[in-house]
Amino acid sequence: MLHHGPAFSLTRDADILRLHFDTADNKVNVFDKRALEDFGAVLDVIDAQGGVDGLIMTSGKSVFIAGADITEFLDYFIAPDAELAGMLDRVNAQFNRFEDLPFPTVVAINGEAQGGGFEICLAADFRIMAEGARVGLPEVKLGIMPGWGGSVRLPRLIGIDNAVEWMCSGSAKKAAVALADGAADAVVAPELLEQSALDIIEQVRLGRIDVAARRRLKTGPVLLSDMERTMAIMSAKGVVGAKAGPHYPSPLTIIDVVASHATRERNEALPIESAAFVKLAKTDVAASLVGIFLNDQQLKRIARGVTKGHAAPVKRAAVLGAGIMGGGVAYQSASNGVPIVMKDIRQEAIQTGLDEAGALLGKQVARGALKPAGVPAILNAIVPALSYGEFGDVDLVVEAVVENAKVKASVLAEVEAAVSDDTVITTNTSTISVNLLAKSLQRPENFCGMHFFNPVHRMPLVEVIRAEGSSERAIATTVAYAQAMKKTPIVVNDCPGFLVNRILFAYFAGYTRLIADGGDVVAIDKALERFGWPMGPAYLLDVVGLDTGKHAAAVMAEGFPDRMASERRTVIDAMYEAERFGQKNGKGFYRYEADKRGKLQKLPDPDGDAVVKSVQSASQAFEPDTIVDRLMIPMCIEAARCVEDDIVGTPAEADMGLVYGLGFPPFRGGALRWVDKAGLADFCARADSMSDLGPLYRPTARMRAMADSGDTFYQRSAT
Ligand code: NAD
Repeated sequence: MLHHGPAFSLTRDADILRLHFDTADNKVNVFDKRALEDFGAVLDVIDAQGGVDGLIMTSGKSVFIAGADITEFLDYFIAPDAELAGMLDRVNAQFNRFEDLPFPTVVAINGEAQGGGFEICLAADFRIMAEGARVGLPEVKLGIMPGWGGSVRLPRLIGIDNAVEWMCSGSAKKAAVALADGAADAVVAPELLEQSALDIIEQVRLGRIDVAARRRLKTGPVLLSDMERTMAIMSAKGVVGAKAGPHYPSPLTIIDVVASHATRERNEALPIESAAFVKLAKTDVAASLVGIFLNDQQLKRIARGVTKGHAAPVKRAAVLGAGIMGGGVAYQSASNGVPIVMKDIRQEAIQTGLDEAGALLGKQVARGALKPAGVPAILNAIVPALSYGEFGDVDLVVEAVVENAKVKASVLAEVEAAVSDDTVITTNTSTISVNLLAKSLQRPENFCGMHFFNPVHRMPLVEVIRAEGSSERAIATTVAYAQAMKKTPIVVNDCPGFLVNRILFAYFAGYTRLIADGGDVVAIDKALERFGWPMGPAYLLDVVGLDTGKHAAAVMAEGFPDRMASERRTVIDAMYEAERFGQKNGKGFYRYEADKRGKLQKLPDPDGDAVVKSVQSASQAFEPDTIVDRLMIPMCIEAARCVEDDIVGTPAEADMGLVYGLGFPPFRGGALRWVDKAGLADFCARADSMSDLGPLYRPTARMRAMADSGDTFYQRSAT
């Protein structure tokens, strides 16, 4: 053994060097400070070797290299620019040393090689991938960009257009795609990686491959005429700019960086990348997106803690009700490998549920995400039923019948009699107390809420609602089932609206009040959409349905009368009374018409405007910032209350509930992180300036105490 460090080992077998990355006390290989130091040390040993034919780099983990250590990176993000730039320079110097070794280098990529883990691969001469391996540069998802030479080497290797697509999408590329695009030199079965690497080195030794020419290609300017380069950059900007929108600066920065270093040699190009990286790392957007990433990891850790040792396997599930939600649950379960019985009282409803599942699968086939041969097995995994005959061996039931407490109570009691003693029974209710529903059961310990969002196949969140009597086993099994369905579960306690709708209806309460005060529907929607919401509040109410909205608003008003009840008739009441239910009957705040492709178009509607006017004494123009505060302040205060009232365990879970359940703009990081960014003192002052609007705008005592002590919801090191 020539070197045996904490991350790398180096051995020599005749004229072949083997560099092996296998961090001793870590489940995955990451380029943290220790690994980077060790990389420098092993390069010294490599440099001292003579008579070498080639080097093969391998990994001792199933993930080849996961990338940089994001938690360490964060310290650099908040450090002075020079410190971050210094780190990038040091790593670049090492990767350049690796790239410039006087013999061919081959990386044998056995699993995922992402971010920094792929950037080192790009510094090698050859990349051989195992069939199941994937590579990519996902930095854009964190609001940053490749910082260890990725933006320099990838366009020189696979062309500007491909490289821009790789970097701006941040997606992990399968081996076959990497090969087709030119990022991989060969794709082989995992057991043939080593032999293929040796073969390549032999080919070089025999003079059949010109390594020097390959290196010139990767370290020189991009080989394109001025015209071709300009065209490539312009078309990339058009496509990417339209997709990224105004709130995410990194995709366009990536293109600008590639444009400005494309004509330069590697050593001049790298500082351009570094300078842009430092700038992006200091943006609010990067802080938010990194925060979201860390929150997501925290959610996974929390879920692991909940399920470990408690979750029972769900091999077969059942759903009651084949409506919008039941059909969605059946599809999601079956397509993730958990067979499911779908029961309704109406044959037509079952057929609609099955047709919907078929249509969703058809879309997957059209996108290439599923082979046509896979469709029948998934559809067969949805077992239609009009009776409880099939329920004897189900492990978990999701009740998704009509939103009526009496119907639900009797259906829950019925199903309990049909299942085994340890079957977990859950309800997808949106507005009925799970504690109340638990009363209809003989075995309330087996019961909890499992609240999906519409459309089920698209919305990542599932709220798992703990009733007073829910056992750890029931909660753990439900959390594990949600994960098996590829959803993100968050465990919450029972209260009106649970976590997400409780916070959403505080926002709607702010909205109806603003409308009553004369606010303009379109101006409000625009202001909130500019804030980053996928749709403004009027549009959202039209999508949710004004009937559903009215019902839920009434539940919230009863639950939180001090701040969510309105003495006056609200615009939601008025729309409901005018039978303007939103998209479901083609009219609400707006009017809806299907276009040629069947997609609903939102159109202005004077009749809708007249209904709005009926609840206003006079119209008034509000500044966009005021509009945002009038809705967002109640939302943020309610989110803080949910943490204080122990409805949700942590600020991270509250924020992720909003991101995954409502589409809260990720670049803002979540409601509580948004408050942190402003500072509690500033937030409370803004809320106080609206104190005449009542308790909806009154920060909690704890928020005021946090403002006084300069406290934040998140630790500074985690932002
Ligand atoms: P839906 O009206 O589309 O479907 C309800 C289905 O239940 C119908 O097919 C009906 O035939 C069936 N049903 C009625 N009684 C039944 C019984 N005794 N046994 C079996 N099936 C029976 O309703 P939906 O929108 O799918 O909502 C279902 C539940 O999910 C409700 O509790 C609702 O609050 C909740 N939810 C809905 C949404 C949403 O956006 N639609 C979102 C989250 C939660």
